[in-house]
Formats: sequence, structure tokens, C-alpha cells
Amino acid sequence: MTSPAFSKAVAPAPAALDKEANKPSNFLRQIIEKDLAEGTYATRRWGGSPGDAAHHASGPLDPAKVRLRFPPEPNGYLHVGHAKSICLNFGLARDYGGVCHLRFDDTNPEKEDTEYVDSIKDAVHWLGFDWCNHGETNLYQASDYFDFMYRAAEYLIGAGHAYVDEQSAEAMRLSRGDFVKPGTDSPFRSRTPAENLARFREMRDGHLPDGAAVLRARIDMASPNINLRDPAIYRIRRAHHHNTGDKWCIYPMYTFAHPIEDALEQITHSICTLEFEDQRPFYDWLLDRLAEGGLISTPHPRQYEFARLNLTYVLTSKRKLAQLVNEKRVNGWDDPRMPTIVGLRRRGYTPEALQLFAERIGVTKSDSWIDYSTLEGCLRETLDGSAPRAMAVLDPVKLVLTNWDDVMGLGALDDCSAPIHPHHPELGKREFKIGNEVWIERSDYEETPPKGFFRLFPAHTNASGQAIAASKVRLKYGHVIECVGAVKDAEGLITEVHAKLLPDTKSGTPGSDSVKVKGVITWVGVNDAVPAEVRLYDRLFREAQPEGGGVDFLTNLNADSLKVMNAYVEPSLASGGSIEAKADDKFQFERHGYFVADRVDHVAGKPVFNLAVGLKDSWGK
Ligand code: ATP
Ligand code: MG
Repeated sequence: MTSPAFSKAVAPAPAALDKEANKPSNFLRQIIEKDLAEGTYATRRWGGSPGDAAHHASGPLDPAKVRLRFPPEPNGYLHVGHAKSICLNFGLARDYGGVCHLRFDDTNPEKEDTEYVDSIKDAVHWLGFDWCNHGETNLYQASDYFDFMYRAAEYLIGAGHAYVDEQSAEAMRLSRGDFVKPGTDSPFRSRTPAENLARFREMRDGHLPDGAAVLRARIDMASPNINLRDPAIYRIRRAHHHNTGDKWCIYPMYTFAHPIEDALEQITHSICTLEFEDQRPFYDWLLDRLAEGGLISTPHPRQYEFARLNLTYVLTSKRKLAQLVNEKRVNGWDDPRMPTIVGLRRRGYTPEALQLFAERIGVTKSDSWIDYSTLEGCLRETLDGSAPRAMAVLDPVKLVLTNWDDVMGLGALDDCSAPIHPHHPELGKREFKIGNEVWIERSDYEETPPKGFFRLFPAHTNASGQAIAASKVRLKYGHVIECVGAVKDAEGLITEVHAKLLPDTKSGTPGSDSVKVKGVITWVGVNDAVPAEVRLYDRLFREAQPEGGGVDFLTNLNADSLKVMNAYVEPSLASGGSIEAKADDKFQFERHGYFVADRVDHVAGKPVFNLAVGLKDSWGK
């Protein structure tokens, strides 16, 4: 695969709207629409389950107009790239009256695991899709087709299209040639079908050691496409398989297995990533031969390639993500910094956000990098309209209102309220109280403020010798206050900020805006604040391309990708509050961003919130 150019490209240019599906069109939609219009697959039958030509011929016309598949290898947890592929395949099936199969591509005997199988099913469901459709459960595993694959191999041998090669791996590599040099024939290439069949059966029956021979398709050693220079299709491997146990000591190669899996399942459009483009001629060659032999039904599936998702600051390889987990660089597959679907979910991502993302990035035929901010933008957009608002103070310092008791009465608490959502008054209100002490952000006070700082600062003389009056700011949904100063400990750390309450300025009361302020700050009352752990996540890698220039991605890990804050949140998030936070609930913490109650660690009484994504606009100065 050629290395994709880095581009900051985000949303692709608005594409023409697809008439039928009312979705932005793309080359895959156009292919499917053309096939539907021309009736390419109109005569296709469906035997009710995967099978050979005879099996399908005995069934009715396929009620599914198109069949697609999502074929993960169950060797890890799915990531955001797979989410793109799931949304694409299941989405096309849904939009065109078809079905999408979930197929576990488990032909490689080594690395399967039921933990991964279960997590993949969960991921597809969570994203909003289902393989049960039209009264069918289209959940398959490729290893169930081993018998047919073996039969297909014997057929190819009998028809003179395959031979057993017993050259050493090295000799085979040398005789394959290269881009400029054609390959040369193996001395075993001219064996008769009968000899090949006998030898292949000896391979199957365990008479040859691992690696002693392979079955190769006999195509063309001089083909300009090296994949057609007699590719290996079966190898000897004594390995236990999770499904078939020790039944087989020969296993099909992926490039042989995959087209057959598609054909048995009557897939119409087999969509894969660009690195398989050079395999397409073999895909077609193999299915043409098997169709000639009457083994599979026609028309056979067609393969189409699209550009895989490359996302900046993110690794999209199950193997590399497994390394991060195994080396404990992150806290498991569902660590909110992981680009796995379980990680994104725990981070606060929603199925809607990932679907929007898949739609927005679209499908193209050339590799590029999508900027991480595109993904974040989709999350913001989908949460903005629905997430309840709340106030939270992440890095708290106490603000004391020195004249509170005089103005409001000794120990008085005043009721404040705020809309749950500014654009949805029907959702109701949040209630909280203000008293003589509130928590504010430590960064909201400056003894000698930089230019343009509009939050709390005391009267002072600036660098040019000018006398600057103390700032007046509004406590959001509360009163206007005027800064007095701060108390520091022996180390110079501020322990309290002091301010005066300006009477008759409470938000929502007549005349409250008589005092003009340049700054508004968020706060929670010391009397009713709820302590909470807030986990601030940042990118896992410091570089947009974590492996750019061929470096080891571990050297680019961001050491500050997690900060844990002892924060305070408003009481409406606690049990019984109007926006009581339950695990997985999302909120906008005003001015900070979108947060999710951690689905693993959050419990009533010990709230834990994860930063999902910051607000687009940075808070006023
Ligand atoms: P990995 O290297 O992460 O294991 P893979 O391609 O080997 O990726 P599979 O389990 O074989 O993973 O993939 C299942 C499907 O997901 C394939 O059809 C593949 O094309 C698609 N897919 C995997 N990674 C991406 C990606 N980054 N962008 C789009 N589709 C992807
Ligand atoms: Mg793979």
C-alpha cells in the first residue's frame, strides 16, 4: 500500500444527494443503484443459508435485493476504522432493501477468542445495526466453509487449475519474479491432476510436515500482476482451530477463502479496503473457475475497494492496539483514550456521532488522513441538542463573599435556577443554592491579570503604572460580585479568593443588569456542591501520525493524556436531582465541554465523569 498523503481535509465537498436514499451519493451507491436498475442480481436465488450452487438453486428468488457483509477477524476489539466499515456495509444494505451478514473470518487457526467474538457482536448492535433481517439470522463463521473450500480445491486440481508445489519457500519466492522480471515455472507445475490430487490428499491426511508443500493455483507465472503468478491457496499447518478442532492440518489462504465465503453467502457487493485492489483479479479468476465447474451460483459476487480510515493521533490496527493494552500503556481495551468502539463508548461517544462521522467522511478511492477534529465535531453536534447542562468546577478554589451575611442575612442560602437545556425550556430547570462561600475555578482569579483578562482580579496598578479598579463579574445564574483580593498560604498558593456581593443583581430579578460586567464565571455552592472525580483525557499520541517517518508509535505516546481532577459538580447531578447522572449519561459542563458519567466506575455517591470532548468555542477571556 502506498503511504497516504497527509491532508487536513475534513468534510468532503458536498456530494450530490442520492435520490432514493436521500444520502450523499458516492461511488458505491452508484454501483448498487446501477446494478439494481439493470437487474444484475435479479435472478439470484437464496437457499435460506450459505451454500453451493445447487443449494441456492433450490431456493426462491432472494428476497434481499443486495447482500453485503462485514467480515472481521475475531483477533481483537473493533476500532473506529471498523465502525466506518460497519456503518458503510450495514447502512448500504438498509438503504437498498438488502441484508448485511456478520461473518467472523476465522480461517486463520491461531488467534481467535470468544471474548473478541462477543465484543464484535456488541459493537455492531451498539452502533445501531443487526444481522437479523427479513426473518433471517445472518451470522456466520468462515470456518464452517472449510469442507466446501476443500472441495473447491479438489475441483481446481481436477480441472488442471491447481497443483501441489514442493519447492522450498525460498525457491518459490525467487521463482516468482518481480515487477520487471516475469516468474519462472516450478518444476512441480506440470504434474498431472491425478498426481496432484493424490499428493493434496496426503497433505490433508497429515503425511507431510508443516511447510513441506503448498497447493497453488495454476494461472500465469508471467502475469504483470504478481498476485496471479500461481498464488498459494492451501498450506499445511498443524494448529488447533477453535471451531473445527484438530480436524484439519491444512488451511486455506485468506485470498482463497474470502471469495469463496462471499460466494457461498450470495454476497452481491463485497466491499473491502484498497490494499485488496491487486487481489481483485484473483478473486474474479477463482470465482469464474468455480462457477464454470458449477460449484457456486452466478452471477458471482464482485469486490469493490474503498480507502481505509486513517485518523490523526490514532492507531487503527487491532494488533497495535493490542500492544498498548498488553503493555499496559492504557487501562484496557475500553480505556477512554482508545479508538476502539468500547473505548469511544466509554469516552462518551454515541452511535449517532459515529454514524454521522461515517457519513461525513464518506467513501473515496484514495487514501488520506482525516483530522481527529472531524470526529470530535460529530460528537459535539450530536450532543449539543440533547445533553443537559450543568455547572462543574474542575480545579476548585474557595470564593468567600465577605459581605454576604450583612446583605443577605446571617447564614442565608439563596435559591438559584438554570435551564436544563437553553433551547428546550420544556425540559425544566436545575435548582441549586448560593451562600457565603462558593467554589470557583482557580484560573478565574489573577492578582495581576494579563491584558484582556475579564474574570476576577483585585484593584491594582498595572505594568504601565495605571490604577486599575477591581473587576466585577457575574456568578452565572447568580449575583454580580466585585473582587477584593485573595488569601495565600506560606508557599504563596491561593487558598481563598474574596469578593463582595453587589446587592439586587441576582440573575432574573428586576434591575439585575444595572451593573455591567465583562466576565461571567461558573461556580458551585460550597453548601450543596457534590464532590466528583473528573478525568480529563487528551490525545494518546503527540504526533498527528503516530508512526510518521517510520518511528515506533510508543515513542510518541502523550504522557499527559490523562489528568484526574478532584472536582465539584452541582447538586442536580446527584441522586434525586433534576438531571441525576447515571452511568453513560452525557452532560455539557458549562464552559468546559461534554462529559459522560463513566460507565464502569460511576456510582451514586461517588460520581466519576470523563471528558468526552471540549466545547468548540473557548470560554471568554
Ligand atoms: P486490523 O489491522 O485492525 O486487524 P483488519 O482490516 O485486518 O484491521 P478485519 O477484522 O479483517 O481487520 O476487518 C474487518 C473489516 O473492517 C474489513 O472489511 C476491513 O476492510 C474493515 N476495516 C478494517 N480497518 C479499517 C479502516 N481503518 N477503515 C475502514 N475499514 C476498515
Ligand atoms: Mg486483519
